[in-house]
This record gives sequence, structure tokens and C-alpha cells, in this order.
Amino acid sequence: MLSNLTADRPTFVTHLECSMTGERYAADRLHGLSRAGRPLLVRYDLDAVGAALSREALTARDTDLWRWRELLPVRHTGNIVSLGEIETPLVPIPKSAGPNVLVKDEGRLPTGSFKARGLVMAVAMAKELGVTRIAMPTNGNAGAALAAYATRVGIETIVFCPEDTPEINVREIAMQGARVWRVNGLIDDCGAIVGKGAAEGRWFDFSTLKEPYRIEGKKTMGLELAAQFGWELPDAIFYPTGGGTGLIGMWKAFDELEKLGWIGSKRPRMYAVQASGCAPIVRAFEAGEEHAERWEDSHTIAMGIRVPKAVGDFLILRAVRESGGKALGVGDPAILKAVDDCARRDGLLLCPEGGATLAAYREALRTGEVDEEERVVLFNCATGLKYPMPAAPQTLDRHAAIDFDAL
Ligand SMILES: *Cc1c(COP(=O)(O)O)cnc(C)c1O
Repeated sequence: MLSNLTADRPTFVTHLECSMTGERYAADRLHGLSRAGRPLLVRYDLDAVGAALSREALTARDTDLWRWRELLPVRHTGNIVSLGEIETPLVPIPKSAGPNVLVKDEGRLPTGSFKARGLVMAVAMAKELGVTRIAMPTNGNAGAALAAYATRVGIETIVFCPEDTPEINVREIAMQGARVWRVNGLIDDCGAIVGKGAAEGRWFDFSTLKEPYRIEGKKTMGLELAAQFGWELPDAIFYPTGGGTGLIGMWKAFDELEKLGWIGSKRPRMYAVQASGCAPIVRAFEAGEEHAERWEDSHTIAMGIRVPKAVGDFLILRAVRESGGKALGVGDPAILKAVDDCARRDGLLLCPEGGATLAAYREALRTGEVDEEERVVLFNCATGLKYPMPAAPQTLDRHAAIDFDAL
């Protein structure tokens, strides 16, 4: 792992671009949203990347996230902040999903979720661009990853989360050095507070997609999948979609890899999975809309995808449609059942959002949307250990006679 972090590699960012209008923005400056109020995308000189790095040279490197340096925005190795961002494994779950389904288990990343991928990059860039104070709205995992990385580089962080955010998330955020506040509202209400403080110049706004580099970090999921599948992509990807950073990032990664000539034009069908209690993208997809309206009265146990309104809605919908995939909603009972089945039958403890992808896959199989011969990847985005589990209340009195047959 160390070798990718110590080697100085050339970098190739040329500029940033508004994802809506294509307007160009200078690299190496601090940016939030574009003037049109949309996410900015980082662009690279891919011809030069291709000349500097071959697929073979890449393959020979250690497999951590930083092996992809030439396709990442950080200019100076000294600004990289790392807690050990490993390549996550693809784990088969044959008993609960059949022989051709693999779970990309992101729960093994630092701070126990794939938010580490986005935040490790965004924090490195904040450091590179001289940011000293960051604020963020979070449902839990993003705040934890931000706190960990920002603390490590000495950037001050203030984190706002909905009041019903699980205790473990709030505590891990605090313990990793952020100032954390519970707010009586949802994540977009927290985002409004962050936006107000940013407008007053109090801090830099780190909301999902409101700074350009989280997408670049999340993009590494797509890069890794390509390498892990031998430079051919799976047939379908089921992604639990809140702000959609990962789905948008992977779609961008595939495009860059094709331009490099490292993969062909075949793309997976991208399935954006949401909880049916908070499914703005599903509703917009089904209505044929380009943008998604705010979802009122959101409720689901899958907190990570409880996002009533996403700034990148049109990017999610565009990727899903271009890929020939769909946006799918699943209910909490199906999510719980999927988590339960996978743990009890395959020994892999999913987070609820990961359970949502398994539930959606099963439903897609039932409706013929996918067939069981197809190679499918489900994303488990956080370790199941952070979430409530059913009680296991049995006790044994060692002083009494033990009925061994009943154990
Ligand atoms: C943030 C999060 C998601 C949603 O990810 P996006 O890329 O923001 O859509 C899904 N699951 C978990 C566990 C999360 O923390």
C-alpha cells in the first residue's frame, strides 16, 4: 500500500466543467457548484494519461485506491491523507442471490463505509486548495469519513445531521474530532444551514456534489470494478442511491476508461435502488422527467439513501437511462428480509442500503428485468456492524443443570 503513496506521479487535470452547461472552470482553484447551480466535473488530458500509464503498469501496482493517481485530481503527493483505502473485495452470496451475483463490500473501507472514497479525495483537495474549515450535512457515514480525514490533516469540521441519525454515527463523528449537531429536520434541512454559513463565509460547503472532488473519489469504484473483472464490465450494477455520487462517479469512470482504450463500449445496466419510502429518483424515472421533485415525508430504515432531493438528480437519471437500466424502489420489509437472508445463509452482514440492492435484484429477477445467467454486482456500502440487529437474548445458568440437547 505504501508504494502508491510515496511515489510522485504526474497529474493530468486540465479543467473543470459544469455538468449542465459544459461551461469551463479553471483547475487548481476552489470551486463549489457551477454558476448554473450544478455540480462541476473534473476533466483530464486522457491522451496524456494513456501515454504516461499503460494498463499493464497499472496492474503491476499495489491495489489500493491510490494506484489510480493519474486519473485523480490531487497534484501533490504530500497532500494525500490516507487511512488505508484498500480495494474492496467482490464477495459471492450464492445462497441468497445465486451463482452470478457478487457483493462489492465497501464496509471494509476506513470509517466503515464507501463515504471514505469520496471524502479522502475531497479532503486532500481541500488541503491542496487551502481550506481551513468545512461544514457538511450528513445522514451519518459521510460525516464520519469527513471527520476522520479532516482531523488527520488539521482542518476544522462542523457536521449537521437529522435528529434521528443513529447514535453510533453521531458518536463516531464526534469521537473523530468534528463538532456535530443534531438538527430537527432532514438532510436537506441540514444542508440549508450549511449553505447559509457558507454564504456568510464561515466555512466551505462540503454537501454532496457541491464540491467537485467527491465524485472523483467515488469514481474509483468503477475503476476497481473494471480491473477486478479483467477489463470487462459486469452486465448489471445495483447501486443504493441517495445523492447518487457513486453512480455518477462510476459512469464517469467507465467513460474515461473507454477513452483510454482500457475497456470497450459495453456498459453495465445501472440500477439506481431507492427505498420506496423515499424514492424521488424512481418517481422521476417512471414519469420520464429529467429532474426529480423533493420527496415529502421521507421514511426508511436505510438512512444512507434517505435523501429527499439530490442536486445531481439529472446526472443519475441520465446515467441510468443511457445504460438501459432503471430506478427501482424497495420497501423496508424486503430490505430487512434481504439483510437477514444474506447474514443467515451466506454469512455476510449487509447494511440496510446493501440489503436494498439485494431486495431490488430479487425483484428484478422475478420480473425478468435481469436473468440469472447475467453477471451482477450489488453494492454494500457500509459495514453491517454499524446498524441495529435483532436481539439474541438467550442466557445460560452455568450453575444449573444444562440441557445440552436444547442448545
Ligand atoms: C451515502 C450512502 C449511500 C448513498 O450513496 P450516494 O452515492 O450518495 O448515493 C448508500 N448507502 C450508505 C450506507 C451510505 O452511507
